[in-house]
Amino acid sequence: MALFPIRTFGDPVLRTVAAPIDDITSAIERLVEDMLETMYDAPGVGLAAPQIGVSKAIFVADIGDGPFVMINPELVELSGEWTWDEGCLSVPERFWPIERPGFARARGLDLAGEEVEFSGDELMGRVLQHEIDHLDGVLLLERLPRKVKKQALRDLRQEALGMPIQP
Ligand code: ZN
Repeated sequence: MALFPIRTFGDPVLRTVAAPIDDITSAIERLVEDMLETMYDAPGVGLAAPQIGVSKAIFVADIGDGPFVMINPELVELSGEWTWDEGCLSVPERFWPIERPGFARARGLDLAGEEVEFSGDELMGRVLQHEIDHLDGVLLLERLPRKVKKQALRDLRQEALGMPIQP
């Protein structure tokens, strides 16, 4: 197992649509171990492969009930709405209230290549949507209202340039 640096805002891999996985090889099994170790170390409740620079459609998550992995996941059901202070390991130490559907159901494959489904409200629903967004090359910033997003991008760019952030 190995810890990987987490790619952050500005890294093009985070804006790239991840490639589907055709073959679940031992390299993918090792990738999952590394992703879990990196996620727990961060610590985070979910981590998508692009966040460690691997543009493949796979994420790991653990919202407190134990780890799970989804390969080539798709959202198959969304309903309700829920606003939550959402953060991302790739945009460290920032949180924004973001409204999304409250319930989500995702379908994909597990490491054995079997079809699996995960679903839930609130945190589970949020993690499924957030991680699948990563695989589509979408960061949580894209889910912010236009004005909030503009300000957030300005702050992040200033920060990247080492300039002080305006209050
Ligand atoms: Zn994230």
